[in-house]
Amino acid sequence: MDCWYRNGVVKKYLHKNDKSPTKFSFLDGPITANNPMGVHHGRGRSYKDLWQKYHTMKGDRGRYQNGFDCQGLWVEVEVEKELGFNNKKEIVNYGVEKFVQKCRDRVMKFAAVQTEQSKRLGMWADWGHDYYTMSDENNYAIWNFLKVCHQRGWIYKGNDSVPWCPRCETAISQHEMLTEDYKQVIHKAIYLELPITKNRKQKIENKDNEYLLVWTTTPWTIPANIAVAVDEKLEYALVKGKTGYKFWVAKDAVDRVFGSEHQGIIKVVKGKELLGLKYSGPFDNLPAVKKVAGKFSDKFHTVVSADPLILPITVVDGTGLVHTAVSAGSEDFKLGKKLGLPMIQVIGDNADYLEDLGFLTGKNGKKHPELILEYLAERDKSTGENWVFKIQDYSHRYPACWRCKTELVWKVTDEWYIAMDRKAKEEGKGKKEKGKTLREQMKEVTKKIKWIPEFGLERELDWLNNMHDWLVSKKNRFWGLALPIWECDKCGYFDVIGGKDELRKMAVKGWNKFDGHSPHKPWIDEIKMKCGKCGNMMSRIEPVGNPWLDAGIIPFSTLPNGWFPADFITESFPGQFKNWFYSLIVMSTVLAGRNPFKTVLGFESVVGEDGRPMHKSWGNMIEFNEGAQKVGVDVMRWMFAKAAPTFVLPFGYKTGDEIRRRFLLILWNSFRFFMTNVKADGWKQGRFTIYDLRFTNVLDQWILVRLDETVEKVTDSLDKFLSAPATESLEKFTEDFSTWYIRRSRERVGPAAIQLTHLRTGMPADTDKDHCYQTMHFVLTTLCRLLAPIMPYITDYMYINLTGEESVHLAEWPKTGNRKLKTENNEKIVEQMELVREIVGMGHAQRKLLNIPLRQPLAEIKVVGLLTEIGTELEELLMDEINVKRVTWIKEEGKRKWDERGGVRVELDTMITDELKKEGEVRKIIRMIQKMRKEKGVGLNDKVSVELPEWPKEFEDQIKKATLAIKIEFGEIPKLK
Ligand SMILES: [Zn+2]
Ligand SMILES: [Zn+2]
Repeated sequence: MDCWYRNGVVKKYLHKNDKSPTKFSFLDGPITANNPMGVHHGRGRSYKDLWQKYHTMKGDRGRYQNGFDCQGLWVEVEVEKELGFNNKKEIVNYGVEKFVQKCRDRVMKFAAVQTEQSKRLGMWADWGHDYYTMSDENNYAIWNFLKVCHQRGWIYKGNDSVPWCPRCETAISQHEMLTEDYKQVIHKAIYLELPITKNRKQKIENKDNEYLLVWTTTPWTIPANIAVAVDEKLEYALVKGKTGYKFWVAKDAVDRVFGSEHQGIIKVVKGKELLGLKYSGPFDNLPAVKKVAGKFSDKFHTVVSADPLILPITVVDGTGLVHTAVSAGSEDFKLGKKLGLPMIQVIGDNADYLEDLGFLTGKNGKKHPELILEYLAERDKSTGENWVFKIQDYSHRYPACWRCKTELVWKVTDEWYIAMDRKAKEEGKGKKEKGKTLREQMKEVTKKIKWIPEFGLERELDWLNNMHDWLVSKKNRFWGLALPIWECDKCGYFDVIGGKDELRKMAVKGWNKFDGHSPHKPWIDEIKMKCGKCGNMMSRIEPVGNPWLDAGIIPFSTLPNGWFPADFITESFPGQFKNWFYSLIVMSTVLAGRNPFKTVLGFESVVGEDGRPMHKSWGNMIEFNEGAQKVGVDVMRWMFAKAAPTFVLPFGYKTGDEIRRRFLLILWNSFRFFMTNVKADGWKQGRFTIYDLRFTNVLDQWILVRLDETVEKVTDSLDKFLSAPATESLEKFTEDFSTWYIRRSRERVGPAAIQLTHLRTGMPADTDKDHCYQTMHFVLTTLCRLLAPIMPYITDYMYINLTGEESVHLAEWPKTGNRKLKTENNEKIVEQMELVREIVGMGHAQRKLLNIPLRQPLAEIKVVGLLTEIGTELEELLMDEINVKRVTWIKEEGKRKWDERGGVRVELDTMITDELKKEGEVRKIIRMIQKMRKEKGVGLNDKVSVELPEWPKEFEDQIKKATLAIKIEFGEIPKLK
C-alpha cells in the first residue's frame, strides 16, 4: 500500500487521463469524520473506488475528491462524551468557542484516521484535497441556497408540535426519524378515570359516579390534558364496574378492558352524544392548569370530536376515548389548532417540568413517569378518590433520537421551515419554477434520475408525496451551519443573508469581532443588522442548521464548471431517501432546476454475521482495521462487489473464508502454475503477440472465446453500475480457466510434457507450448485488468510480475473482440466444449460406479443422443480425458437438441484386454514416478534415473519421456536416483 504512494503510482493514476475528452463525474457522499471506520463503511467506499478505477482504466477523466462530513449532532454528542457532559448548560459553562474548537479538532483527527483506513482499503483518492462540509465555501453556498428559497417565499417560522430529543435538547425533523431508530420498548400505560361533572363548579363531586375512562402510554403528559376526544360515529357503552362505578368506553373495547369484571352494560350511545360533557382532572389544582382552566373555561376539560383525518380513533388498544394533551403530541396539537383549544406547556427543553406545576416542577417527566403514577395511586389511597383504573406494562415501537438514542418526546416549539407547497414567488433560473411548488418541481427532477435498484424511484417519490415542510433549524446546538437568518424581535421581520459579501454589507455592528473567523458560532452571532421594516436592531436567530443541508449542497460547493450534474453517486440507502438523496434533490431543484446526478446506486446495509445490525454494545460490530486484518482487503471488497444492492450483507469471517478458498486461491494457483512453468522452461514472450498467432489447439481457441465473452459481460455489467453480475462471470471464468484449461494443458508446458504433446497432436512441440504460454499470459493479464477495480492488491501484484509494467491500475481496460484473434472453428466452440465436459462428467461418474480407475484405459465410449459433429480435436480431448481409445457417436432422434443439457447419455465398454491392462500399468508407473519427483523436490527440468521392480519393456521409452528419466533399472523398491 505504501509503495503505491511512495512510488508515485497513485499520482500517475490521478492524472492519467488529464487530457482525455471524456470524463466521469463522480460525487462523493461525505463520510462523517467522527470515529474510525467500521467494516460497514467499506461497502460504499469499495463501490466508490470500484467505479472510479473502472472509468480511469477506460480513459475517462476523473476528480477523485473525497469528502468529510463535519458538522452537526454526530460530532457534538461525541465531544460531549469526551468531556463528560450531559447537557447544554455544561457546554455553555465550558465556553462555546472552546467547544466548537473541540468539535473541529475531532473532525480533523478522525479525517486523518479514516484517510489511513481508506488507503488500506485500496481506495485511491486525491487525498489532501478533500472537501470538508465545515469549510467556508460549503457554509456560504448553503446561505445562498436559503436566500434563493427566501426570495421564492418558502422560508418561514412555524409553531408546531415536533419530535424532540430531551438529551440533545433539540427538534428532530421528520426527515431524521428513521425506521431503525424506532425501538420495541415497554412503557407503563395507565387507564385513567376522569369523573364527569355536570357543571364546572361541581368539580369531583360526581353524584352519578360516571367516569370517562381514558388510556395513555405517556403518563407524564396527563397534567397537560385539555380534552378527551371521541369518534362521533363510534358506539360507546356505559359499563357498571365491579364496585358500582360507571365507566364510558367504546363498546368494542368493553371485553378487552373489563374482561368478566363488570356488572353489565347500562346503555349504548353514539360518540356524538358524549360531546360537550365536562370532567375533572387530577391536576386541576396546579397553578399552571388553573390559569388555563380559568381563561378558557368553555373549552377546558370537555369531550370533543376527533377529526378522523387528524386523529383516527381505533379500539385495537385503549378505550376509544383519547386523552388530548395539545402541547405534547402531534395529532393533539393539530386537533387543538382546528378546535381552537388552549394548551398547557408542561416540559422544558430537557423534559423537566416547568414552573407552576407544584411538586412536579424541576423534575424530569420523561425519565420519571412513576412520579405521576405513584402520585395518583397515593392520592386514591389517602383521599378515597378514584383516578387509577389500572396500570399495565405496554410494549410498543417508540422512536428514539438518531444520534444519542434517547427516547423522544413531542413538544410545541417555534422552528424554521422550508415550505414544500407554496407556489414560487419569484422566477428561478429557468421559467419552469414559476407558479410551481417545490414539491412538484422535486418530483419532476426525481423522475429524471436513474435509480438503482429501480424501486428507489418509487421510494423517493413516496417520501416526496408524504413529507411535511422541511424543518431546518436545530435549537440549542452549537457546532453546525449558522442559519443566516436575522430576525427583529420587535416587529417579527426577518431577512436571509446569501453570502459573506452581503453579510459585510448588511452588518451594522460586530463585523470587526467576526472578521477572520469561519461563519460559525459564537463569532457569527456578533453581527447585528438593521430591521428592514422598523429600524430596530436584528440578531441572528439562535439555532444552527439541519446537518443534511451540509451534504446536500456539495454539488454546488465542490464541483467545478462542467462537472455538474454528477454522473454517479452511491450510498447506503436505508436513510438516504429522506436525507442525502433528498437534500441533494431539494438544493439542486432550487438552484439549478434539474437533477444533481444522473445515476444513483443505493445499497443495503452490512450487518453482523448473526444477521443483526452491527452495534458496539452487541459485540458484533467490526472495526475496519480488524476486518481488514482478518479477512483481507481483496476478499472484503470481493464480498461487497458480489452482493446485490438489495442484499443485506452479513459480514463475517466464514463468508470471507469461502471466497478465499473458492475464488482467490484458484486465481492464485493459476498464476503460480504459469509462473513456475515459465521459469522452468525459460519461456519469454517473443516478438510476436497473441494477435499474430494462429491458434490451432482447441483449448486455446476455447478459452480465448470464453475470455472474450467474459470481457463483454463484465464491461456491460459495470457500465450499468452493477458489480454482482460482473463477479459472477469472473468467478465462472476463473474456474473454467483453472479446472479445465490449465488442467487440460498441464502436459503442454513444462520440460517433461513437450514430448507427449508432440506425440499426440502432431504439432511442432515448441509451437504448441508457445501458444499455450501466450494464451495463459494473455488470459492472466486480461483477467487481472478485469479484476483490478474490485481486487486492487492481488491483481496489481500479479500484473506487475506478468508484465513488468508499473501497475495494473494504470493499464487500459480490456477491449472485447478477441474473437477476431486468429482462432478457427470458434462459432460454436463454447457450446461444444460444454458438451464435451458434460460427457466427461458422465464418463467419470460411470467409471466410479463400476470401480474402474481413470488410469485404466478402456476401448470405447458410446455417446448416444441427437448429435452434431464436434471435430477431431475436441474428440481427442474427450478420449484423453476419460481415457478411452475410441468414441462412437450414435444419433438418436429425440425431443432434445444435442446442445441442450442432459440431451445425451454415454455407455462405456468395460472389457479390459491384456493390452489395455498393460497400458493402465504404464500410467500407474508414470504417475508414481512423477509423485516421487515431486516429493523429492526434483526441479521440473532435472533428469533422473529410476529403479523399478518391473515394467512393460515395450513402453519403456514412453515412461522415460513422460518422466524425464534417463534410464530405468531393476530395483526391489521403486526409487529415484
Ligand atoms: Zn439526542
Ligand atoms: Zn422590526
